[in-house]
Amino acid sequence: MKLLEYEAKDYFRKYGIPTPEGCMITDPVQARMFIEKLGKPIVIKAQLPVGGRGKAGGIQFADTPNEAKNMAAHMLGKQIKGLTIEKLYVEEKLDIVNEIYLGVTIDRRNKSHVILASSEGGVEIEVVAEETPEKIIRHLVDPVNGLRSFHANLIAKRLGFKGRKMRQFADFVMKLYSLADEMDAELTEINPLAELEDGFIAADARLLVDNNALFRHKELEDKLLSSLQGELTEREMEARAQDLTYVELDGDIGIIGNGAGLTMATLDTVMLYGGKAANFLDLGGGATPERIEKAVKFVLRDTRTKAVFVNVLGGITRGDHTAQGIVAARQELGSVKPIVVRMAGTKEKEGRRILKKAGIETLDSMEEGAKLAVKLAEGS
Ligand code: GDP
Ligand code: MN
Repeated sequence: MKLLEYEAKDYFRKYGIPTPEGCMITDPVQARMFIEKLGKPIVIKAQLPVGGRGKAGGIQFADTPNEAKNMAAHMLGKQIKGLTIEKLYVEEKLDIVNEIYLGVTIDRRNKSHVILASSEGGVEIEVVAEETPEKIIRHLVDPVNGLRSFHANLIAKRLGFKGRKMRQFADFVMKLYSLADEMDAELTEINPLAELEDGFIAADARLLVDNNALFRHKELEDKLLSSLQGELTEREMEARAQDLTYVELDGDIGIIGNGAGLTMATLDTVMLYGGKAANFLDLGGGATPERIEKAVKFVLRDTRTKAVFVNVLGGITRGDHTAQGIVAARQELGSVKPIVVRMAGTKEKEGRRILKKAGIETLDSMEEGAKLAVKLAEGS
């Protein structure tokens, strides 16, 4: 989940990272009010989930209240990289002596955080990595011991800071690392980290939180859900609430698979044989009979679904569990909608036996299953 600059800066402040005084606005009048109260020149920044706003005209300056209002009016509603500017962030303009880059991300190969720092801030770090890779300092953080202040001091020294500036920069590094670690950030980045006469301040802020960790950050999870509200259908929202991966389409065949790849292949195969999917549901790995029952019920309840095709490849997911779930779902709903099952792998024989007893057909291949599902949907 990508946070906008002003949202990221709120988290930065919580972690004690110095940021310029600022305010998110949606109306030009608010820009005038902000600069009047501040009494100093300001920066006006487009709030969009993309980098490189500066080059695209998304970062502007204003010295007077009128300039601020006019510039804000000019920016709001404009497009950058195909996105419409709906929010602006106004903040005090800094007297930047030097622009530094500081970021924390995950080094998957080393299974640890890595801190990246460079004296070449303000430009895209990818460009620095390409052209002058020697100017990027990389520090791998030991996941057991974490980051110690002497590590942070070393990073600051390698950037050329001494004395008070060295300690100030090291403090910045420690705080950004705590934020990255505690917020489960895939990436957090300050570019530029502005060096001023007497210290440092985060002129920009990026924070990308791992979606799989949102259960630990309820306020962000709620935010993501409400932002999806407009995009998801009612049933898709309901599925999310039940922890099911479900997408609605506009045909009449319900599709259930395990794993994104197999589910997509099943969808394609049904289409290849002239069918149209009403939805698809990915069981994920190792689904229990209860979870399978819940999933099958969910798909059966879609009034547009005329037939259901369940395609399960038994690895951790077991054939007998799949069969039990399907039979239970049908019984409980009293559904007579045709269900076609193709299963292979773990406990396949047991699964097929259970289904046969319940009068549900099982097939050997995905192609046969898809063909039959299409035929049954047409027939009913
Ligand atoms: P980005 O282009 O989307 O990464 O937006 P940034 O917030 O990083 O701003 C881009 C550039 O604008 C920075 O690298 C700075 O050179 C400049 N800039 C941003 N804020 C200030 C400021 O307060 N004072 C000054 N002098 N320059 C700024
Ligand atoms: Mn930036």
